[in-house]
Amino acid sequence: MGVFGSGLHRLCAVVAAATAGLAARQVRRALKQTSTVELRLDWLRSDGERARFLRWLKKSAPRSAVFLATCRRKEGGGKFSGDVAGELFWLMQAREAGCRWCDVEIETLRRLPNRSVRGYAVPPKVLLSVHDFDRTPAFPRRVAMPDLGEADAVKIAAAAHTIGDSLRLLRLARHSKNFVAVPMGEAGLPARVLALREGSALAYAPVAEATAPGQIAFEEMKHLYRAHQLTRRTRVYGVIGDPIGHSLSPLLHNTGFVARHIDAVYLPFLVHKLRDFLEAVPELGIRGFSVTLPHKQSIRKHLQGCDPLAEAIGAVNTVVVRRDGSLRGSNTDYVGVLRALEKRIKLAGSRVLVFGAGGAARAAAFALHRAGATVVICARREEAARALARAAGGDTVPRRALRTEYFDVIVNATPVGMHPRPGVSPLAANELNCRVVMDLIYRPQQTQLLKMAARRGIVTVSGVEMFLAQGFAQWEVFTGRRAPEAVMRRTILRALAAKESRS
Ligand code: NAP
Repeated sequence: MGVFGSGLHRLCAVVAAATAGLAARQVRRALKQTSTVELRLDWLRSDGERARFLRWLKKSAPRSAVFLATCRRKEGGGKFSGDVAGELFWLMQAREAGCRWCDVEIETLRRLPNRSVRGYAVPPKVLLSVHDFDRTPAFPRRVAMPDLGEADAVKIAAAAHTIGDSLRLLRLARHSKNFVAVPMGEAGLPARVLALREGSALAYAPVAEATAPGQIAFEEMKHLYRAHQLTRRTRVYGVIGDPIGHSLSPLLHNTGFVARHIDAVYLPFLVHKLRDFLEAVPELGIRGFSVTLPHKQSIRKHLQGCDPLAEAIGAVNTVVVRRDGSLRGSNTDYVGVLRALEKRIKLAGSRVLVFGAGGAARAAAFALHRAGATVVICARREEAARALARAAGGDTVPRRALRTEYFDVIVNATPVGMHPRPGVSPLAANELNCRVVMDLIYRPQQTQLLKMAARRGIVTVSGVEMFLAQGFAQWEVFTGRRAPEAVMRRTILRALAAKESRS
């Protein structure tokens, strides 16, 4: 057992607010979820608010909770504008208010006589913290406790720009006792989730505003990623892309794992260079991953096996890591288009227009052709349309002909109308001469194109149907079990609705 205990006790909720009232509210929220809470005293906007908050804490907080007081000065990357004496003063007040732990930055320790904090009446347990907001330095194999018993635990928080950076920090957690690893930044996010599994004594997550880059909200850390329950046996999956922050795939897949009680986690990997990620696959124990832009084509040369259809489409969105470490790719975007459309129309013998000639258009064109539809491509670059038509087995049509042509289905495979510019449509109302319109865009769910089609009495299919269907298929490839579709669908629709109401 580590210095902070085991299980949920190692998930530390971060309380950070400008006023005593807000901070108190966050503490109450935090204590409903965990018993370990960091109090960012430096975030309180004045000494008056700090004093008010600590008075409240002394009076109202349960003694069973473990409070870790932090009053980080600006020099150490915090918000406290006072000096070292001021920091120590507030940490001593925190002890008075019942805090058992304090976080003391290395910059503070260096300024103290004998580099020792033990002569001050700060909280009895000291977490010595080292921050590097620019990079992840090279580390020795393990961190030794400083001399004189100066600290009960050591924390290193370092900006991770690559998965390799995060791995260096995780290795340190694996080999050091009483050590807290905090990889910062979006690239460090998966390692933040995996830190506890690798032996970190704590993982931080804010109950409200993020206090460091790449943080995950406490609710997500606990309920979606289940960071405190992950072990070396937990199967690790993920999605690789750049950008990746917007991806709904972690929500989709983890919801499925939770619903089916599968010991697995799915993480968003920000990947600039494929090789950097692929090198980390064995060490992280990754069993499979989804692939999104810009890696869907370039991943192919790293695979030892590929489904012939994905090969023909020229894009892979699903990779399974086999027991011997070899990678096998497939494409479930293809399944997504078909499943979404087949519910509305019999595809065999139908005439379908695919508008656009990019990656998604390619998957759609191959899928529709194989399902027996006559595929017609229209794109702003006619050469691109002709090339796709040749590859997938279809025809092309010039844009000017759309007003007079009739199709059973029109599929929009361009990003026109997508968040954050939702008010536009790729096609005009008089170009929609068809029974069904499908938009591959899923944010917003009801695009301008779909609204226009609905007004003309045309059946509409949102891109969210494709997103869900490709995700269900992918989840089944990963787990070999049937996806719990209803709960996965409900969760995604709710998340999309929340995003839309915020934008
Ligand atoms: P892509 O490879 O970049 O292709 C985009 C296509 O749209 C290209 O043919 C591009 O033409 C065309 N285009 C872009 N702007 C245009 C404009 N203003 N007018 C006419 N054509 C335009 O992108 P993609 O990966 O295929 O993605 C396309 C859309 O599908 C995105 O909105 C994406 O979110 C969505 N998608 C959805 C799912 C799902 O699960 N629902 C899955 C994959 C993709 P040029 O080549 O001339 O630029």
